[in-house]
Amino acid sequence: MSEHILEVKNLKKHFDVGGGRLLKAVDGINFAIKRGETFGLVGESGCGKSTAGRTIIRLYEATSGEVLFNGENIYKLKGDSLKKFNRSMQMVFQDPYASLNPRMTIENIIGEGIDIHGLASGKERRERIYKLLRDVGLNEEHAGRFPHEFSGGQRQRIGIARALAIEPQFIIADEPISALDVSVQAQVVNLFKKLQRERGLTYLFIAHDLAMVKHISDRIGVMYLGKMMEVTTSEMLYAKPLHPYTESLLSAIPIPDPEVERQRERIILEGEVPSPLNPPSGCPFRTRCPKAMKQCAESMPEMKEVEPGHFTACHLY
Ligand code: SF4
Repeated sequence: MSEHILEVKNLKKHFDVGGGRLLKAVDGINFAIKRGETFGLVGESGCGKSTAGRTIIRLYEATSGEVLFNGENIYKLKGDSLKKFNRSMQMVFQDPYASLNPRMTIENIIGEGIDIHGLASGKERRERIYKLLRDVGLNEEHAGRFPHEFSGGQRQRIGIARALAIEPQFIIADEPISALDVSVQAQVVNLFKKLQRERGLTYLFIAHDLAMVKHISDRIGVMYLGKMMEVTTSEMLYAKPLHPYTESLLSAIPIPDPEVERQRERIILEGEVPSPLNPPSGCPFRTRCPKAMKQCAESMPEMKEVEPGHFTACHLY
């Protein structure tokens, strides 16, 4: 069995927005995720990270490219293998308010997947749901209540229990902590970590800032305008970022030591992220890159392995 549970190969998701215009939300990304690790996918809003997540779980149909899950191309799955895939991969959404049906009890929200896949019924179903509630830090008294009776953090715990109900191997968490109070974010991150240890889960953890993925990710991919800019381990990315875009994202994270914070130089990016409907020629980051050169407008740099396990797409390397 390959060490990679997921391999994304030249994945593209383009949306036809009319008038012959294409929105290239995801434009040829490559990365692989090892079994049992957490891969953080980071970038500003509109960079394509959520679209990538939704295309990987088949909520969107890919324009082209391949996604291999346990070695099988998920876009070619049919019948029983498709059912098996649907059980193996689950998603936790950003907005715990919008993603839970307000008219359903927590028991039925969590039990829906169990029913669809015929995993348990009657007493066994109820016991499973109670155990899931305990596993995510809630309790069985919560089963008969409705989503509006819970706080944001508790609703996200319910969303996680729902995802776990069908015993997936792989979870795509799409900005799962962005909508929560800062004080609750660390608790939910710790819950993800605990569940990973207990169940051997693999995560694709999508976030818009590097500070959020720092403590949970083993490796991180940085996206900009539908392209992957840099992929490496969490330690290497923080200690020695290669891509100018990653450098700027890191420089935006405040350092807790006020002395160090005062002395360091911030990289302030000029301008807005260009529209993905009309991306710049060559390197998509060139209109904001403090190190841009002539050739950056002429060709898109290839992703290169600059040092072992450290990949970047930039003409500087
Ligand atoms: Fe900057 Fe050029 Fe590198 Fe793009 S390729 S990040 S514009 S130096």
